[in-house]
Amino acid sequence: MFRGRYPVLVFFITLFFFSPSLFGGMNSMTKALVKKGELRLSFAHPLDTKKIRHFTLPNPHREIYDFKEMKLAHSRVPLGLGNNVRIAQNNANTVRVVIESKSPFKPTAYQPLFSKASYHISLPRKSAYLQKDFTPAKQAYAKPREQKVTRQHHTEVIVIDAGHGGHDSGAIGGGKREKDLVLAISRKVTKQLKKRGFPVYLTRSSDRFLKLHERTRIADRKDAKVFISIHANAIAQSKRDKMHGIETFFLQNTRDERSQRIAARENEAVLKGTDRVSKNVIIDSVLNGPKIVESNKLAIDIHKRMMANARSLYRDVKDGGVRHAPFYVLVGASRPSVLIEVGYISHPKERKRLFSAEYQNLLAKGIAEGIENYLRNRRREIDL
Ligand SMILES: [Zn+2]
Repeated sequence: MFRGRYPVLVFFITLFFFSPSLFGGMNSMTKALVKKGELRLSFAHPLDTKKIRHFTLPNPHREIYDFKEMKLAHSRVPLGLGNNVRIAQNNANTVRVVIESKSPFKPTAYQPLFSKASYHISLPRKSAYLQKDFTPAKQAYAKPREQKVTRQHHTEVIVIDAGHGGHDSGAIGGGKREKDLVLAISRKVTKQLKKRGFPVYLTRSSDRFLKLHERTRIADRKDAKVFISIHANAIAQSKRDKMHGIETFFLQNTRDERSQRIAARENEAVLKGTDRVSKNVIIDSVLNGPKIVESNKLAIDIHKRMMANARSLYRDVKDGGVRHAPFYVLVGASRPSVLIEVGYISHPKERKRLFSAEYQNLLAKGIAEGIENYLRNRRREIDL
């Protein structure tokens, strides 16, 4: 039902407006984004196309557009718009857009009918992008960006929910309990995220039971940007050798039987004491809500990085995919929310891995990287 993350490359950079009065007749470039194979520029005022100077430079081939009497609306150079586009304040009155490609191409540039304050320039096909041949200028451009990301102090609060706890052991396999496993992994995820500069809160940091509203309350109180619930799976003895692997869920009603079965088991404990009417009200209020699309994106990012990290040492880890299921623990969360089933503790081989610190660290790192990627993309998509 849901398509992939980016059907087209969409990197969205929004720049702050400067008051136009500061610059007299000057215009300012307020936005730049890459969409549907075009670079789309937006301006504070209608653009006078006579003030654009277009020329090319060889080795590597560059299409250059100088916008005269133009300021970048933000003093900061935009983050990368992909490998081949750069935008900078070239001098006090000129914004320069450089599009680089392996081989010469003829861009089409036009003002769209709906807005004279926009300008679109077609980009070379992806295969024509320069991938490895970085020019010195490009390296200089790329370097501070990387440093910035690693040193960034984030403001986005993340809540990690370790499933079950106390009298609720969750799944049990080979004498091992889900509640202990997910607490250990949750702690490692927290550590990974703190290392990356994120404020993180755990719903429980010890072996105690939490009601549903207690799990989501902390996310509301701290205005968390994402909510991650960590669980482990189990299946009946007769199938224990067949089912293994990592599955990532985001909230949605589903007809998929397997998702429903897993959801039913995870829901059992949290639903005790919640009456049916209030359950339905909560569900109605969030199903079909905008958070589902965001939750799906978050789930994809997390799942991708978990699989990559797990398979870096264990190549046979099964990819259970990103799925949707009506987990109640996610229902109350009014933010992108994901439930991770890190593996099957009913599967002897996977159980052994799951309870090893090495594998837990791989999963934790993957989860943290996924969250970081999601939030980074999200920052690019919204106005700064
Ligand atoms: Zn669970």
